[in-house]
Amino acid sequence: MNAREQAERICARLRDAGYQALFNGGCVRDIILGREPSDYDVSTDARPERVQQLFPGSIPVGAQFGVVIVVKDGVQVEVATFRSDIGSADGRHPVRVEFSNSPDEDVRRRDFTINGLLMDPRDGNVLDFVGGQADIKARIVRAIGEPELRFVEDKLRMLRAVRFAARFDYSIEPRTFAAIRKLASQIEQVSKERVRDELSRMLTEGAARRAFELLDETGLLREVLPEVARMKGVQQPAQFHPEGDVWTHTLLMIEKLPAGAPRTLAWGVLLHDVGKPPTFRAPAGPSDRIRFDDHVEVGVRITEEICRRLRFSNEDTEQIVSLVANHMRFKDVPNMRDSTRKRFARLPHFEQHLELHRLDCLSSHGSLSSYDFVRGFLAETPPEAVHPARLVTGEDLKNMGFQPGPQFKEILSAVEDAQLEGKIASRTEALDFVRLQFSGKSV
Ligand code: ATP
Ligand code: MG
Repeated sequence: MNAREQAERICARLRDAGYQALFNGGCVRDIILGREPSDYDVSTDARPERVQQLFPGSIPVGAQFGVVIVVKDGVQVEVATFRSDIGSADGRHPVRVEFSNSPDEDVRRRDFTINGLLMDPRDGNVLDFVGGQADIKARIVRAIGEPELRFVEDKLRMLRAVRFAARFDYSIEPRTFAAIRKLASQIEQVSKERVRDELSRMLTEGAARRAFELLDETGLLREVLPEVARMKGVQQPAQFHPEGDVWTHTLLMIEKLPAGAPRTLAWGVLLHDVGKPPTFRAPAGPSDRIRFDDHVEVGVRITEEICRRLRFSNEDTEQIVSLVANHMRFKDVPNMRDSTRKRFARLPHFEQHLELHRLDCLSSHGSLSSYDFVRGFLAETPPEAVHPARLVTGEDLKNMGFQPGPQFKEILSAVEDAQLEGKIASRTEALDFVRLQFSGKSV
């Protein structure tokens, strides 16, 4: 049974028990748009306890908000009791939630008119209390009710407005837009994790360029990512970057991120040149050019700081930082020693490094020569040549009389270099190599 059938069954069950049951929110919008909804949400006047009785094994996730998750055959459907939210002390959580019997009231607590539609799954009849259908037709993201009040209640909605406008290529209704501009600086009251997740979604829903242009136009960008906002107007040498300044280059790159792009790649792309604004140096004379000395190292530090601030996991942080740290190395690949090149290709998720480099080229000079070189190298180099089995262990070194310590790492790495260069291939050769290169230097 697919998700939609599952949701329809849940509605039928609720109706049989004497309750109203309607599809709500994003799934109705997506059905009208002919898009596949990512999930189905059901609204009902049945109270949460009643929903749990009707669907044994369901999970009350936000009992105080009246949300129960019904899981069947691996499909999750959120069943929410009609409610109205009263006020908000911190701009995040309503002060009080009141259950309601009226779908109309339930819709008014939702964020945007396009997200405020209900549908009777029996006949596909749409209940529209807020003009959502007209706004879908006109391609507009409009706050339900008084925009300023709605954004003050929950500041995250400002980012959601941008995300939906970008994703559907809609405009933001002028009063809604003006309210965001006015309240943009209050986005700092939203938890960093929620901000991060919204930004990640913007970057990976296939419309990242539009999203970041809107973040800029609304004034949200300089609040959430001032380091990225600084890219605007930072000129670059025309021979490498005919496209324009660092911001333009970055927009061209994120524009090429498809829906479903890996999150770390998307952030790496966004931040790869974040070290350029602070390292910009104008040409010293007519024969000089604009320079960004150490922009990679500076960019790495800034990226670490951004990842820490946005509470990225260590794993994500490492990968994003690595993408920034290594993005300038591609041009050197043809001249690298074999061992260096193989180690480079061993970077975790190397395909993301390669893709970032490809987008970097396509968004500037357009030459894919280094990219093609690396692709060729990967194609003709079997994985076991890139990741060969270890020939010598620390235990071997101990047995040979070396003292454990920093020298171990040095020896093992030299052995691996020789192996990657094709100079040694067997354990015996490796042990001979160690004796020849390092004996006498021990202790
Ligand atoms: P997506 O396709 O991204 O899941 P969605 O519209 O389903 O989009 P959700 O975040 O899944 O968005 O939320 C489901 C519904 O809940 C929304 O359509 C909206 O009606 C309501 N909603 C979600 N977040 C908020 C919020 N911060 N303020 C008001 N209403 C919200
Ligand atoms: Mg949803």
